[in-house]
Amino acid sequence: MALDNRRLAELAGHDAFLQRHNGPDADDVVQMLKMLHIDSISTLIEKTVPADIRLGRELNLDAPRAEAEALDYLKRLARQNKVFKTYIGQGYYNTHLPAVIQRNVLENPGWYTAYTPYQPEIAQGRLEGLLNFQQMVMDLTGMELANASLLDEATAAAEAMALCKRANKKSKSQAFFVADDVLPQTLDVIRTRAYYFGFELIVAPAGEIAAHDVFGALLQYPSQSGEIRDLAPLLKAAAERGVMTCVAADIMSLVLLKEPGSLGADIVIGNSQRFGVPMGFGGPHAAFFATTDKLKRSIPGRIIGVSKDNRGNQALRMAMQTREQHIRREKATSNICTAQALLANIAGFYAVYHGASGLRTIASRIHRLTTILAEGLKRKGVQLVHDSWFDTLRLTNVDAGKIHGRAMTHEINLRYFDNGDIGVSLDETTTTADLGVLFDVLLGEEHELSAAALDEEVVAKRLSGIPAACQRKSDFLTHPTFQRYHSETEMLRYLKRLENKDLSLTHAMIPLGSCTMKLNATSEMIPITWPEFAHIHPFAPKDQIVGYKQMIDELAAFLVEITGYEHISMQPNSGAQGEYAGLVAIRRYQVAQGQGHRDICLIPSSAHGTNPASAAMAHMKVVVVECDKDGNIDLNDLRDKAGQHRDNLSAIMLTYPSTHGVFEESIREACKIVHDHGGQVYIDGANMNAQVGLARPGDFGGDVSHLNLHKTFCIPHGGGGPGMGPIGVKAHLAPYVSNHVVTPITGVNPDCGAVSAAAFGSASILPISWAYIKMMGTRGLREATELAILNANYIAKRLDGHYPVLYKGANGTVAHECIIDIRPLKATSGITEEDIAKRLMDYGFHAPTMSFPVPGTLMVEPTESESLYEIDRFCDAMIAIREEIARVEKGEWPVDDNPLANAPHTMADLMDSHWERPYSRELGAFPSEAVKAAKYWPAVNRVDNVFGDRQLICSCPSIDEYRD
Ligand SMILES: *Cc1c(COP(=O)(O)O)cnc(C)c1O
Repeated sequence: MALDNRRLAELAGHDAFLQRHNGPDADDVVQMLKMLHIDSISTLIEKTVPADIRLGRELNLDAPRAEAEALDYLKRLARQNKVFKTYIGQGYYNTHLPAVIQRNVLENPGWYTAYTPYQPEIAQGRLEGLLNFQQMVMDLTGMELANASLLDEATAAAEAMALCKRANKKSKSQAFFVADDVLPQTLDVIRTRAYYFGFELIVAPAGEIAAHDVFGALLQYPSQSGEIRDLAPLLKAAAERGVMTCVAADIMSLVLLKEPGSLGADIVIGNSQRFGVPMGFGGPHAAFFATTDKLKRSIPGRIIGVSKDNRGNQALRMAMQTREQHIRREKATSNICTAQALLANIAGFYAVYHGASGLRTIASRIHRLTTILAEGLKRKGVQLVHDSWFDTLRLTNVDAGKIHGRAMTHEINLRYFDNGDIGVSLDETTTTADLGVLFDVLLGEEHELSAAALDEEVVAKRLSGIPAACQRKSDFLTHPTFQRYHSETEMLRYLKRLENKDLSLTHAMIPLGSCTMKLNATSEMIPITWPEFAHIHPFAPKDQIVGYKQMIDELAAFLVEITGYEHISMQPNSGAQGEYAGLVAIRRYQVAQGQGHRDICLIPSSAHGTNPASAAMAHMKVVVVECDKDGNIDLNDLRDKAGQHRDNLSAIMLTYPSTHGVFEESIREACKIVHDHGGQVYIDGANMNAQVGLARPGDFGGDVSHLNLHKTFCIPHGGGGPGMGPIGVKAHLAPYVSNHVVTPITGVNPDCGAVSAAAFGSASILPISWAYIKMMGTRGLREATELAILNANYIAKRLDGHYPVLYKGANGTVAHECIIDIRPLKATSGITEEDIAKRLMDYGFHAPTMSFPVPGTLMVEPTESESLYEIDRFCDAMIAIREEIARVEKGEWPVDDNPLANAPHTMADLMDSHWERPYSRELGAFPSEAVKAAKYWPAVNRVDNVFGDRQLICSCPSIDEYRD
C-alpha cells in the first residue's frame, strides 16, 4: 500500500517538496555514509535508535501533496471561514498592518527566520527593533522599564501577579485582587496560575481595591465593557495599604488616556496586537510588560539593553540573561523562553511608521467614531451602561435577539453579554460608512440618523467619552526613531538597514542545538496572511470558523499519529507553556484519583531550564536526578529517588533524545520505574526532530509531551518567537487539559482553567505545520528525521579528531545533534567556547548553542534541511578555527591578541589605521574562500556583557548620550 502511494506520488511529481525541504540529495547521502563507514541509512538508524522503541512501521499519514496542491486544499479550508466585520473587541481588534511592514518584515525570511538574539553582534537589527518596542511601551504606559514581549495579555497578567508576590516583601497575604471587569480570558488564566501558586483570588468591583488584605491587585483600563475610570485614587489607596498594583491597559487607548505610570501603577501589561498585527484567531501577537525601575531585576521575559562593544561603540544585547530559567532553573522568575519577538517588532515598527502624530490621528478617529455612535444611540433612547468610553460601548435593555438577527444579515459580529447586553468595539478600520450599518443593525433601519450630521455636532460641541481627569497630557514617542521614518521610502530603507545587520537562515545554517533551525518553507508561510486566517477574531461564532476547526482537527490527527498520544491540546503558545499545561493536567488527574498530595517532580540534571521552572510554577518540588559519565540518566539514582519519594512522586520530566544528543537505551526502563512508583511521565518533545516516523513518545512510556511546532514542525523562530507548544496526552489525561471560559472546548472538563488567552493559542501559524506535514507525507517525514540524524553524525565524524565529541550512544553514533567539548582546549590555549562562537561570525556562521546543557561546550544541530555543501562549509570553518587555536597553543599568537580573542572583526577594525595585530586584516575578516565570495559583516565588535548589566539602559539611547 505504502509503495503504491509512493509510486503514485512519484508519477505526479509529488516528491518534489521533500526534495526541497531536505538538504542532502541521493549522491550526498552516499558520500556521507561512506565517510561514516556505514552501508545504509537503515543501518545508521539501527545503530542509533534503540530497537525496543522503534516504531517498526510507517506512520499512517497521507501521501505527500505537492506545494501547489497543499495550498489549494488549504485555500478551500480557509474559504470555509467567514470573515465578518468584527466589533467584538474584548482584547482583539481589526488593524491595518502597513503594507511596507507586511512585505518587508512579516513576509520576509530575513526577519522571520532569525533566532533569539543570543549572539548580539549578528543581531543588532532585531535588537534595535525590540528596543523600539520597549521604548514605545514605556512611553505609552508611562513606566520606566519594559520587556521585549510576553506571550499574550492573559499570561502577562499572570506573570504580573507572580511578580507582585515576589516583590511585595512587606505583605504576608496570599491573596490577589482582580477587578471584576477584567477580560474574562485573563481572569481564566490567572485562576489557573493562582491555584498552583497557592494564591487566593478575590474578584470584586474595582472600587474595592483597597478593601482587602492582598499582596497585589489587577485593574483593567478601560474596563472590559469600555468604562474609563480615574485610576489615580484607586492606585493610591491600594499603595497606601501596601498592595502592589497592576494595570491591564489597551495600548491604543493609551494614546489618549493618562498613562498608568503617572497614576502610580507598579506594573502595566497588555496586548500590542492592534498595532498592526492581525487577530489571527487568537495569535500570535506580542503582549507587553512594563514596570517601575524598582522591579527591573525581577521582571519576567527578555529585556533588550544598551551596552557597548570593545571599540566603545554603542551596541545592544539581551540584558540580565543570568535571571533566565536556564541559569536559575526552579528559582527562575518565570518559565518564559520563546516569546513573541517578530510580533513585537511589527508593533514597534507600526509605532515607528506612524509616529506620535499618526497614532494620535488613529486613536482620535476611533474615539470620535465611537462618540458619534454613542450620541446616535443615546438620541434614540438606547441605554449605555457607562457614560465614559474610548472605543467600546456597552448597550443595555436592548432586544439582543433582534439585533443579533440584523447583525448576521449584515455579516457583523458584536459582543453578546450573558445578561443580554451588547458590546460594540470600534477600531482603526472602522469608517463612517460602517457607522451607518451599525446604526441599522443596532436600531433597525428607520433610525434616520446621519453619521455625518452627528459628526458635525460631535466636533462643534467637542463631545468626548474620556473624562477630563483621564485625558493624556504628556508627550510620547519623542525619540528621533519615531519621527524619521514616516514616508514609505524612509521606512523601507530603515527596515532593510536593520535586516542587513542580522544573520538569519537567509545567510547560512544556524546550527543551534535543541533549537532545530530547519527550513521554513515559503509555501508554508504563504497562508498566514490570507484574510480567512488572519482576520478572524478568536471569539468569532463557531459557524464562522469551520475551516479553522477542520485545519486544527487535521493537524491534531497528524500529531496524534506522529506522537502515539491519544489527544492533542492546541492551547499552549510556546514549549514552556506546554510544559506547564502538561504538568497541570497531571496534577488535575492525580487530584481526581485522590492523589493530589503527589508533588515531587524528578528532573535529570541535563534538562532544559524551562523544565524545573515549569515544575515550580505547577507547585511541584523539583528533585534532580543525576546523569552518568556517558550523559545518560543514572538509572540507579532514578530508582533511589523514585523509591525515596514513592508516596509523593507526581512526575518525571525527561527530554528524549536527551539534551546530551543521544538516544538513551534505557528510556523504557526509566519510564517504567516512574510508573511503578505512581508517577506520570512528561516527555519534553523539543527533540522530536530526531524521532518523527521512527519512534513515538506515546509508545515508549510518555503520558504527555509538548511539541515545539517552531522547532520540529517548521514554524519560524521569528527572532525569539512566535512559537506553538501543543501537548499530546494519553487518554487518561485528556479530560484535564486546558479549557477556555469564552470558547469552551468539547471533551475537556469545564473546570479546567485556561493556560492561554485564546483557546487554540497562536492559531494563525498552525497552517505552517499543517502544510509541512501534508507536503512531506509519511515517507518525507521519516526521511527528514533520518537525514537530520545523518547530518549530525557526519558533523560529529568530521569534527572528531579536531574537537572531542562529548557523548555518543551505545554504538558510537549521536542523535540529531552533537556536543563538542571546548574545555580541554580552554585548558591548553586559553581560548573559550565564546571566542569560537564569535570567530564563527567571521566565517559567516551563527554559533551553535553555547554552554547548554554542559558549560564550556558547543551543541551543534544541523537539521535535515542543510545540504552537504553547507555542512562541509561549516565543518571547514570549525577545522580552520581549530588550526587557529593550535597557533595560540604553540605561542605563535598571544592569548589575548589573536583572531579568536578579537572576533568578530568588523569594518571598523579593517579601517583602523593602527592595525598592530599579529595577523593580517585579511585573515581577520576574510578567513575563507566562501567569505571572500559573499561577506556578511557583524555590525558591532564583541559586546560587553558586564557593562550592559551594570548600567542597565533599556530605552532608545539618545544620540548625544553616546557622543563622548
Ligand atoms: C526550546 C526548548 C524548550 C522551551 O521551548 P520554548 O518554546 O522556547 O518555550 C524546552 N525544552 C527544550 C529541550 C528545548 O529545547
